[in-house]
Amino acid sequence: MKKFLLVFLLLINTLILSAQTLQSPEQFLGYKIGTRFTPDYKIVNYFNAVAQAKPSMVKVEKYGETYEGRDLILAYIASPENIQRLDAIRLNNLRLAGITKDKMAPVIDGVPAIVWLSYNVHGNEPSSSEAAMMVLYALVDPNNTQTKDWLKNTVVIIDPCINPDGHDRYVNWYNTSAGAIANAYPDAREHDEAWPYGRTNHYNFDLNRDWAWQTQKESQERMKKYNEWLPQIHVDYHEQGYNDLYYFAPAAEPYHQVITQWQRDFQTQIGKNNAKYFDANGWLYFTREIYDLLYPSYGDTYPTYNGAIGMTYEQGGIGAGLAVKTKDGDTLTLTQRVTHHYTTSLATLEITSNNATKVVAEFKKYFDDTRNATGLEYKTYVLTSNDENKLQAVADLLQKNNIEFGTTPATNFKGYNYFTGKEENYQSEKYQLAVSAYQPKGRFVKVLFEPKSFLSDSATYDITAWAIPYSYGVKAYAVKDKLDVDPYKSADTIKNVEANYGMLIPYASLNAAKLLGYLLQHHVKVRYSEKPFTYKEKNYGRGTLIILKGNNVNDWQQITNDACKQFNIQADEVESGLVEKGADFGSEYIHFVKAPKVAMLTGDEVVAESAGEVWNFFDQTLHYPITQLNTDEIGDVKLNDFDVLIIPNGTYAKLDEKPIEDMLHSFVKNGGRIIALENGAEEIATMDFGFKLKEKGNDTTTKAKPDYSSLKKYGERQRDALPNSIPGAIYKIELDSSHPLAYGYPDFYYTLKQDNKLYEFLKGGWNVGVIKQSNYVSGFVGSKVKPQLKDGLLFGVQQYGKGNVIILADDVLFRMFWENGKLLFSNAVFLVGQ
Ligand SMILES: [Zn+2]
Repeated sequence: MKKFLLVFLLLINTLILSAQTLQSPEQFLGYKIGTRFTPDYKIVNYFNAVAQAKPSMVKVEKYGETYEGRDLILAYIASPENIQRLDAIRLNNLRLAGITKDKMAPVIDGVPAIVWLSYNVHGNEPSSSEAAMMVLYALVDPNNTQTKDWLKNTVVIIDPCINPDGHDRYVNWYNTSAGAIANAYPDAREHDEAWPYGRTNHYNFDLNRDWAWQTQKESQERMKKYNEWLPQIHVDYHEQGYNDLYYFAPAAEPYHQVITQWQRDFQTQIGKNNAKYFDANGWLYFTREIYDLLYPSYGDTYPTYNGAIGMTYEQGGIGAGLAVKTKDGDTLTLTQRVTHHYTTSLATLEITSNNATKVVAEFKKYFDDTRNATGLEYKTYVLTSNDENKLQAVADLLQKNNIEFGTTPATNFKGYNYFTGKEENYQSEKYQLAVSAYQPKGRFVKVLFEPKSFLSDSATYDITAWAIPYSYGVKAYAVKDKLDVDPYKSADTIKNVEANYGMLIPYASLNAAKLLGYLLQHHVKVRYSEKPFTYKEKNYGRGTLIILKGNNVNDWQQITNDACKQFNIQADEVESGLVEKGADFGSEYIHFVKAPKVAMLTGDEVVAESAGEVWNFFDQTLHYPITQLNTDEIGDVKLNDFDVLIIPNGTYAKLDEKPIEDMLHSFVKNGGRIIALENGAEEIATMDFGFKLKEKGNDTTTKAKPDYSSLKKYGERQRDALPNSIPGAIYKIELDSSHPLAYGYPDFYYTLKQDNKLYEFLKGGWNVGVIKQSNYVSGFVGSKVKPQLKDGLLFGVQQYGKGNVIILADDVLFRMFWENGKLLFSNAVFLVGQ
């Protein structure tokens, strides 16, 4: 018994010791880094263990949780002196940027530089999270004197895993698929990841497209912290295809115009320091190719537009597992991948520390210039709307990014009207929101709001236009004068309605659709008006929701009042079914809305991000149920259990099978609705529902001349592809706003065009959204694509039997930040065909 007690005490003692002694990752994990993939919880545990063992140098903070409940953490690593005054350093840094409200002068001398290292934003690019543990240990290891020198003037912030859900999805899948010995054969199953892949978060969102929009929980929580710190240097760690060699800064063109000379120069210096170590080891790498600095929602551009040197580092490695044979006959191992990321991490800290004084001084200069709106053409942006909720959506975005905004008392000024494309006198609607360029975030404001993006080079990695007035569908003016901006006025308060007969709810913004979803979920009976009408001398538009007492649930009034408060819409009381103008509430022009049962296809043939947008929209925005179906198993599903089937963007082979095609035909014939998105619409167009893709018109004007355009130079082949490309540009679509698909819209809509596909005008259906002639607005469109994008349909409704096929050829939920498309999508779900 005594012996047992002794062993027990010894065991406890070892446990306590191990909690207090600093351990290397290998000592802690029990295996050498690179020999296995580490699940996220062990990475978090290691960081916590190091913080416990070395509280004089490391602080770990949990800043949030993922959708699947995993911890999101940051580690702050600094000298013992600096770790004690960490918050003072942070506040001083914000004072350098002019962001704190206290107006205290910042300290400049002896202020440490701040480096933020973000690992593993794409879950199936996991080598950087392994490197993060090694970097942490190198910084605190007492035997490493070099890192202690760096920490004298540098504070390091490590996010070891931005996307834990994706990381674990990949790691669990890999561990499930691989045997005891890693198989380097490239076609082995362990190199062919399963749908929906670990790249994205829970809702299949690419978190490296979400920095500015913050539509996802992980981004929302992280960006709060990021904006509380605003580091001077930020690195976003990635992996690319495993045959590619290492990439680091300087970035490729195009660079956005707001990027300063210092930001260009110092990323080159950082790149040179990385190169020094790669050269010494004989490792290959490239710079200035592929990864440009334009789209504002990346882990390199966002920090750049917020005063930092923001960079992407890419190791070859996606799908490589623990080992894979590459095209040059070598075997790439996880150990090598980790070593490269570890090396650039330390090299970046070294060069920053060597230049810390200059880095801090330039950071201050960036914000001094920005607050004075130096070099910014437009000084004020004024947005105006008759619907407060539309402005509130913009206000939410600005708030997330710590951008100051308010309202301007000025009424008499001229500005560039985004909707007409002309310099015009300002005309106010009921509500207004103004953003001044004279603020710490002024350059970022320009990036988000500028009417036309300027491209120094048109070969870009992503969309080239996103201006908020277009993506949010809000009337706005870009003004060259500095206008006063007062604090933002608080929202109208919503008053309860006491009604004996019914209630009316205007249908003008996404909030109205959310409200409708809420009422349907609570079994409230809702109708909508097909025609505009006048009641008690007030005019109501198409789509106005009508909730009547007759035959409704008992607490219909309470539920509706609650919903109106929640979604910030003022309802009106109705005492009678008789209206002054338009259709009475018992008319056939008043449509009953049946709560739709909605299903969506998922699986291998579906673009995971497209399905993810829909899923996220139902789950997190509409809070309305959706059933995800496996496309492979669709033949076994009783489709008649559903009212709506959503076919996301994808490449469908399964739907080409005759029995499946027959099934879809009978589903629609019997009253079902198909909502077909992007290439999903192209697939349905092959099925004789009565619409088809438009043939690309050839440019006939050049036919007479000899065609030398086929004589291309090999060395310019990438550039030669540009005339055919459209990475993402804005077009103005003409809308038939008398159709339920377009209720709540004016007679136009700004779409993000990412391909050259158009549909022929429907002969027997409703052409709700069409491009006629010169509807181009902003962004890069190749010279050969431009003439093709005219006279065609993008949004339409084709009736078939008792049901409908709804074509949405462009992505109206693009990355969930294309705010203005969400109502259109909701209309397709709730209103069309009812
Ligand atoms: Zn990546």
